[in-house]
Amino acid sequence: MDQTTLVVLSLLAALMAYTTAVLVRWAAGARTASYAAAVLFLFAMMAAMFAGALVYYLHPGPVTLAEGFWFAAILMSAFVFPLIYVLTREVRLRGTTGSAPPETAFNTALYAAGAIGLVLANEFLMGWVFSLAAGLTIPLNQGAIPFLEAVVVSPWFIFTMGGEMLLSAYFLRERIRPGIRIILAFQGVLMILSPPALAAPAWATFAVYAGSAVMIGLVIYLLEFVARTPEFPPGFATYTLLLAGIYSLMMAGLYLWVGYGWLPLFALVLILEMVLFFDALLQSDRFSAGPPWVWSRSPRWVFGLLAAVFVTEVFMGALLDLQAGGPSAWLATVPAGPLVGSPAMVAGHVLANGFWWLATVTASTWFLVMMGFEMGALVYFKIRETRHRELRLRLWILVGVFASTTVLIPGFWSKIPGVPDLATIPFLGWTMGIGSGGALTSTVILAVLSTYLLVAGLCFLFGRRALCSVLCGMAPLMFQGTLMDRMKSFNRSSSVGHKYLGSRFSAAFSITGAVALSAALGVTIVSYLNTVGALNVTIVGADPTVFLYNLNFGVVWYLLFVTVPFVGTYNCVTLGWCPWGMVGQAVSNRRVGLFRLKVKDREVCKACTTLDCAKACPIGLVDMPGHFRTRGEFRSSKCCGVGDCIESCPYDNIYIHDVRHWLRARLGRPAPRPEPPFARGPQLPMVNSRPAAELAPLGK
Ligand code: SF4
Ligand code: SF4
Repeated sequence: MDQTTLVVLSLLAALMAYTTAVLVRWAAGARTASYAAAVLFLFAMMAAMFAGALVYYLHPGPVTLAEGFWFAAILMSAFVFPLIYVLTREVRLRGTTGSAPPETAFNTALYAAGAIGLVLANEFLMGWVFSLAAGLTIPLNQGAIPFLEAVVVSPWFIFTMGGEMLLSAYFLRERIRPGIRIILAFQGVLMILSPPALAAPAWATFAVYAGSAVMIGLVIYLLEFVARTPEFPPGFATYTLLLAGIYSLMMAGLYLWVGYGWLPLFALVLILEMVLFFDALLQSDRFSAGPPWVWSRSPRWVFGLLAAVFVTEVFMGALLDLQAGGPSAWLATVPAGPLVGSPAMVAGHVLANGFWWLATVTASTWFLVMMGFEMGALVYFKIRETRHRELRLRLWILVGVFASTTVLIPGFWSKIPGVPDLATIPFLGWTMGIGSGGALTSTVILAVLSTYLLVAGLCFLFGRRALCSVLCGMAPLMFQGTLMDRMKSFNRSSSVGHKYLGSRFSAAFSITGAVALSAALGVTIVSYLNTVGALNVTIVGADPTVFLYNLNFGVVWYLLFVTVPFVGTYNCVTLGWCPWGMVGQAVSNRRVGLFRLKVKDREVCKACTTLDCAKACPIGLVDMPGHFRTRGEFRSSKCCGVGDCIESCPYDNIYIHDVRHWLRARLGRPAPRPEPPFARGPQLPMVNSRPAAELAPLGK
C-alpha cells in the first residue's frame, strides 16, 4: 500500500470514528421513538454506504462501481420506510392524544441492541472495505472463521473501533459516573492495544507489554473501586462481572495467539468487548438506577469477580512468559505428558498437564511481578489509611519481602554470575518451606534446617506475624490489601468459614491441620529416602516435596483465594492447611512465644459494646474481646499480628507485646510508649469510623 492510500484511508477511518461517536451520543440521548428511529436510520445509511463500497472493492471495475452505487442507493431507500412508519405513527399518536408521546415510549433494550448491532455492522463492513482498499487479503473461501478473523483483527477494525470507544465515552462523559468513565476509557485503550492488529512484530511486542500494563492498571482500579464502594446498583455489578469475564477470555485468546498462532477466540472477544462497551454507554442509566446492592452480601458475585480476575492474571502471566521467554522456549519448560494411549491415560495426562501448566505459570516471575503490582497497590492503599506507625511499617516491609524473596531472588538470582545454587542457601532458597527450593537432597538439608530454625526463632520472638504477616510473601500481600479487608465478613457469614471461627482448634481445623502436616512429613521422608537411594518415588513425574509444594502454593493456594466468599479470608491460616504456617503456630501459641495482644485498660473492654476488634480480625478470632476483658491480653497460635484489631478499636486500647517489651522488662526499662490515639490518618472505613468524641463515654 502506498503512502497516499494509507493517509487517505487513515483520514477516512478517523472521520468514521468521529461520526460514529457523534451518532452514539445522539443514540444515548434518544427519548422518543421518532428520535431513536432517526438515529438508527443514520447508522443504517452508513452501513448502506459501506455495503455499496464493498460491492466495488470485491471486484474493482467500472461495472461494479455502478452496481455498488445502485446497491447503496437501494438500501438507503429501503431504510427510509421504517423511519417514515415511526414518524407517521408518532404524528398519529399526537393527533389522538393531543400531547407529545411520553419519553422513552419504546423498548430501550431492543433499541440499544439495534444501535449496537448497526455500529458493529458498520465497523465490520468498514474493516472489510478498508482492508481490501489497503491491499490486505480477506479469505472468502476458507470458511467463516478465517474470514471473520481477517476482518475483525485488522487495523482498520481495531483502531477505528478503539477511537470510536474513546470519543464516545468522552462525548458522553457528563452522563456517566466518574468511576465508570475511567473504566470505559480503559476499555478503549485496551482495544487499541491489541497485539494482533498489525503484522509488525515490534507492534505485537509493544502491545503485549503496554496492554498488560494497562490491564494491570484496570484491575487495580476495578478492585479498589469495589473495595471503596460497599454498595452500587445491580446494573454496575452485572457490567463489572461481564467485563472481568470478557478480559479473562481476551487474555486466554492472546495466549493462544502468541503460543499457538490461534486467533479466533481473540477475534470473538473483541466483538464482545465492543458490545459490552456500547451497551454500557447506551444504557448508562443502569449505573445509577435501582436499589443499592451490597456486594459483600453476595458471595457468588464476589466469587465470580475474583475467579474472572484470577483467570485474567493467569493468562496474562502466561502471555508475558511466552513473550519474554519466546513461545517455544517457554512452552518447553512446562512438563507435558503425551496425549496418547487408553482414554484413562489420556485423561490422566490432561489433568497432570493442566496441573503443571498452572503451577508453572503461578510460579513464574512475570506472573508474580504482575500480582505484586496489583496486590501491592491494594496494600499501598491500605497503608495510606493505616494510622499506627508500627502497622504501616510492617505493611511496607511485607511489600519489600514479597518483591525480594518472591520476585527478585527466585527470578533473577540465577542470572548473577558465580553465585551458589539458591537451594543451598538458608531461607532465600526455602522461603516457603519444603519443596520451595527443589528436592530434599542431602546437600541442602542444612539449608532447610537453618531456614526452619530461623523462622521458628523469629516467630518465637515476634509471633507468627513474622512468618504469616511478613516473610511468607504471598499471603500477607494478597490478604492485606483494601479489597480483602472488605471481605472479612465472609469469615462469619460463609458456612465453611464459620466452622473455623475463634482461637480454639475446631474439629475441622484439627483435621485439615493434621492432613497438611502429615502430608509434609510424609513427602519429606520419601524425598530423603529417594536421595539416599532407598526409594524411587515420584508424584506426577516430580519429587514428592516439589509436587506437594506446587500443589499447595501453585494451585490450592489460588483456588482458596478465589473461594474467599465461601471459606473466608486468610484461609491458609484459618483452615490450617499450610504446613509452613504450622511451624510458626507451634512456637507462637498460648504457652510458648513472647508475642501477644494486650490492652491498655481491661475496664475499657468491659464497657465496650462495639466489639470492633473482633469484627476487624481477618482470621476470624471472634473470642478476642472476651480474653481482653478477663485477662487483659489475648494469645492465640492462629493470630498473625496483622493489627486490624488495633486499627479498629475505637478506644485505641490494644497494642502488640513481643520480645521488645520482654527485653525492656528484663532490663528494668519502661515499656515502649504506645502511639497516641488517632495520631494520623483516617480510621479504616470498613470498620467503625466514628471519631472518638462521638462514642459513648466509658465509665471506669
Ligand atoms: S499459613 Fe502459610 S501461606 Fe498462610 S501466611 Fe502463613 S506461611 Fe503463608
Ligand atoms: S474494640 Fe477495643 S475496647 Fe472494644 S473489646 Fe475490642 S479492644 Fe476492647
